[in-house]
Amino acid sequence: MIKTAEAKSDSIIETSQEKRERFLMEFEKPFKCEKCNERFKKKKYLREHKSQIHSY
Ligand SMILES: [Zn+2]
Repeated sequence: MIKTAEAKSDSIIETSQEKRERFLMEFEKPFKCEKCNERFKKKKYLREHKSQIHSY
C-alpha cells in the first residue's frame, strides 16, 4: 500500500519534470521538422535534416 502511494507521487514528479524538459527543449530547439517532429537547435540543421531525410 505504501509502495503504491510512493509510485503515485513519483509519477506526479515525473510529469512536472517532463513538462519542464519539454519547455526547455522547445526553448533550446525551436526549429521543428513538420514531417517527423524532430527538433533542431539551428535552422541550418533543420534544412540539412530535411534535405537528407525528406529529400524527395
Ligand atoms: Zn524530418
